[in-house]
Amino acid sequence: MQEALAKLVIVNESALDEERAVSGAREIIYGAGAEPPEVKTRRLRGFLEASRENAARLADARWIASRVPPTVRKNLCRIEMSFLEKNKIPSGIVYRGFEFREILKDKFPGWGRAGQLMIFITPRILATPEVRGGAPHIRMILSGSPAVISTRGILMGPARSRKSFRREGGGNENKNIDSKMMEKITGSLILQALIYRFSGEGFCDSPDCCLYNPHWRVEAVKALGPTASLCARHAELMKYCHNSLEKSNSYKEEK
Ligand SMILES: [Zn+2]
Repeated sequence: MQEALAKLVIVNESALDEERAVSGAREIIYGAGAEPPEVKTRRLRGFLEASRENAARLADARWIASRVPPTVRKNLCRIEMSFLEKNKIPSGIVYRGFEFREILKDKFPGWGRAGQLMIFITPRILATPEVRGGAPHIRMILSGSPAVISTRGILMGPARSRKSFRREGGGNENKNIDSKMMEKITGSLILQALIYRFSGEGFCDSPDCCLYNPHWRVEAVKALGPTASLCARHAELMKYCHNSLEKSNSYKEEK
């Protein structure tokens, strides 16, 4: 898969400053000697308006939804509706990442435009099964088109196991992740989404590359945090992306 990418659209419903996250991504791209694509950002109070359909889809996207009896499901719909009406995003609920993304695809049909990558930033906790039908794996990012970044996933994802709590010295969930760190890590995740969309390449094996998939928080901070950079191979790939961008200047946004 090789596609020239002319535009990045960031749609954010989290408290994170999306402009600063984009600056972080730009710095890494410049650091690699390449040019970033055009970026458009948009902040929303919530992606989804209060409707029965959205409430039902969110209830069905909950991790536990397939295992609850119909009466409980009805109740979940009511609870989701009440969250939507109050414009609140629940903090402790785990959603099936790909199902949540399907809701966004229907709500924001512009995600599929040629030459464009849309990235959503949400505080919702998104998970995918580690193996088919297996336990939830909390995700920082779902790459692909559109991509979805979860800010709570950044806080929870790489340090979710008990082992990691021991390794990192106890139960302080947000250790080392303040809002500045969150912006930097999000900048690296934006690059992960960009490279994946452009080249089809997923995570990098190098723990010093910002495309690394960290298993521990210390690794996330080191690879994706303030000192993040692309490894030599991915820096080259980014330059190639830029060359393609120059060739693709005939691209015009559809109105
Ligand atoms: Zn790399």
